Amino acid sequence: MKYLSVTDAQACILDVVKTLGIETVGIECCLGRVLAADILANRDQPPYDVSAMDGYALRSADLAHGAATLEIVEDIRAGEMPVKTLQAGQCARIMTGAPVPQGTDAVIRVEDTEALADNQTKILCSVKPGNDIRLRAESMRNGAVVLTAGTEITPGVIGMLAMVKCSNVTVYRQPRVAILSTGDELEGLNDPFDANKIPDANSHALMAQVQALGISPVMLGIARDDPEELHRYLQQGLQYDVLLVSGGTSVGVHDYVRPTLEALGVEMKFWRVAMKPGHPMAFGVASRHGSESYVFGLPGNPVSSMVCFEQFVAPALRRMTGKAKLYRRTVEARLARDVKHKPGRTDFIRVTLHKEEGGYAAISTGAQGSGILASMAHAEGLMVVPADSHGLLADSYVTVQLLDGMSYQNEIGGEW
Ligand code: AMP
Ligand code: MG
Repeated sequence: MKYLSVTDAQACILDVVKTLGIETVGIECCLGRVLAADILANRDQPPYDVSAMDGYALRSADLAHGAATLEIVEDIRAGEMPVKTLQAGQCARIMTGAPVPQGTDAVIRVEDTEALADNQTKILCSVKPGNDIRLRAESMRNGAVVLTAGTEITPGVIGMLAMVKCSNVTVYRQPRVAILSTGDELEGLNDPFDANKIPDANSHALMAQVQALGISPVMLGIARDDPEELHRYLQQGLQYDVLLVSGGTSVGVHDYVRPTLEALGVEMKFWRVAMKPGHPMAFGVASRHGSESYVFGLPGNPVSSMVCFEQFVAPALRRMTGKAKLYRRTVEARLARDVKHKPGRTDFIRVTLHKEEGGYAAISTGAQGSGILASMAHAEGLMVVPADSHGLLADSYVTVQLLDGMSYQNEIGGEW
């Protein structure tokens, strides 16, 4: 089988992967999920024309010639209804959010007035009709769609859900994800220390990558490079919506993962991708009681496994949870040093990003071996060297996939 390009492999996965069913969850635990139904307004908001300021409701015509002294005929607080209709020369003291009285066409903020004795106030400037009045239903109209299905739930969306009193929210179901490491040489986190073994980093790094997407994975542990043991573990893993198995997908004589998956009825879609790090990367689909399980065979090398997760698993999990934004946000950054490259495969170089005039500079995190996890631990982004590149020159601009959780940055970014 030939090596697939990164984009062809992504397309192959996304052709197959579908959203799961829907479920209803409480508003307190829906952050990061995706709405599976439109949300309608159940009232006009604001329910009347209301004041946007603490100040005075008045008739703008009374100020046609500039400053004027008006009689205060009423005091209206938020939550109260006005009782008077304003006549010429009159105003009402009003609080933010309180309904404006009949006859009013503008509000002036208290800072533009001067208190006088005998229930009078001096208005210091003229105002245009409509000034500082929030019109009925300007934030939402009863019955209108205020949020559409497919919207990712952010804190702002949660505020809107509360506005329409939606305490239970219909969202796409989260996939159940299982994680398995394979290899005779692996030592589990709680196993006794053995200097001849290799600590199982992949299970935990993958666990965290899944958690970062808001999903709690199930840890299946470590399977030895033994066809029978592997068969048992993989069979268990195929009970989940998604199985992530690392190691054993290459062409070594003890790499039993692919044949064992095939023996279990998994249809392998591909198992080689033209990328570095990460080429022994496999993807397969298994039918399970009318639905499907997706299997990702990730490379054993820890950096390769994490980079492949970013390119292939994260978009698939995001698609399953109903998200439209499947890929990491990218920025263009200035390359600090030349990068050598032979055409044929896409490289993902781990970089930090440094703010400079006009944007960012990308600097490698150091030795880029696929077993050197520090290169990933310190990375803020993955710099993409396209497969057809003959090398990149310092000071050229490159695309960097941002790895920071939610696109935060160190610098304030400007003076404001
Ligand atoms: P494999 O793909 O099984 O040939 O593994 C490639 C390399 O990755 C080998 O050096 C393995 O020891 C290493 N490796 C495999 N699985 C893990 C893991 N879970 N944690 C850390 N290193 C691993
Ligand atoms: Mg192995």
